[in-house]
Amino acid sequence: MAVDTVIVNIAELATLAGPNDQPRRRKDLGDLGLLKDAYVAIADGKVLATGTGAPPPAKTVIDASGCTVTPGLIDPHTHLVFGGTREAEFVQRLEGATYAEILAAGGGIHHTVTATRAATVEELVRSGRQRLKRMLACGTTTLEAKSGYGLELETELKQLIAVKQLAEEGPQEIIATFMGAHAVPKGVDGDVYTQQVIDEMLPEVARRGLAAYCDVFCEQGVFTPQQTERIGRAAKALGLGVRIHADELSDLGGGALAATLEAASADHLLMMGEQSVQALAKSNTVAVMLPGTPFFLGMAERAPARALIDAGVAIAIGTDFNPGSCFSESLPMMMTLACLHLKLTPAEALACVTINAAHSLGLANRLGSLEPGKQADLVVWDAPNHAHLAYHFGVPLVRSVLKRGEVVL
Ligand SMILES: [Zn+2]
Repeated sequence: MAVDTVIVNIAELATLAGPNDQPRRRKDLGDLGLLKDAYVAIADGKVLATGTGAPPPAKTVIDASGCTVTPGLIDPHTHLVFGGTREAEFVQRLEGATYAEILAAGGGIHHTVTATRAATVEELVRSGRQRLKRMLACGTTTLEAKSGYGLELETELKQLIAVKQLAEEGPQEIIATFMGAHAVPKGVDGDVYTQQVIDEMLPEVARRGLAAYCDVFCEQGVFTPQQTERIGRAAKALGLGVRIHADELSDLGGGALAATLEAASADHLLMMGEQSVQALAKSNTVAVMLPGTPFFLGMAERAPARALIDAGVAIAIGTDFNPGSCFSESLPMMMTLACLHLKLTPAEALACVTINAAHSLGLANRLGSLEPGKQADLVVWDAPNHAHLAYHFGVPLVRSVLKRGEVVL
């Protein structure tokens, strides 16, 4: 087959090659399939070959001397599309206000819900496009994006329509998640709203094909495990996958519930108990760590990532990009936090934002590693080896990004 593009002189190539039928667990998580002085040959938007030695001739040659090449990063948890921002709340928090106080005063998520309800699709697309640009500059080639700032059908659909439009524009692939159950609207009973999500919102989202997943915030004072389970089962009956914001602020057994529901992911897990660890270890549900959130909220709690790895749980890392609790599009920043706060190695952190993130989104047959036949989504980093991605923090290290074999940055 004719080679379209070959990337040559790669100082370190992290292929992440390995079995793709299951997420990487335990010590396999840190096995990046590294090659030194390597090349990647691309044809038809797919990886044709990786290797060392003399590269095959190609129409386009990209010199990556001194650089690391990795698969395109995959962000399995973002709240990409919303109206307004919350820098005022950030300042209030710095002055000593707690999130609970801000919420009680009508701020917090309520602020974003009001601004998102007021925004047009075009406004949501415009701000979403800027955020995607920043994500691309940080190496993200595929991401998940949730609704959840409408809390009523019309705005939830508006957010998902904006996500669809952004996905069509590219260059990133975006997997949409309906999260009508992000919060209970002010003045509404939780059971009544749960029923509304099940009877009115979910069927319409499914009918229009606007989401691949349904997410629920299972938390004290938000949705109970019982309500979460009802919504999760209704979503599955409509053909949607399930993701759960679980055990973030209290241990309600959300992780175990995610395993019971065969959810694609259980996310946050700061407060998770042993029961959830054991349940997830026996499941294919991916535990998505979001270390930017406790960092940005100034919380001391950390997800028990090492215990999860030891127990055999499959883990991934996301940004949780959102206007309140983690306003950062950068997965490399999250890799640094995963190393410092969750005690992951840089190699494990990289697997968490590539192959395991792909597994949590059902995309691992096509994305997440650089192996023959897989899509040629990759990042050329201004870094001599993969450890620099986490080690050299807070600065832009991306030199170039390819999506489906095309240079997009
Ligand atoms: Zn979230």
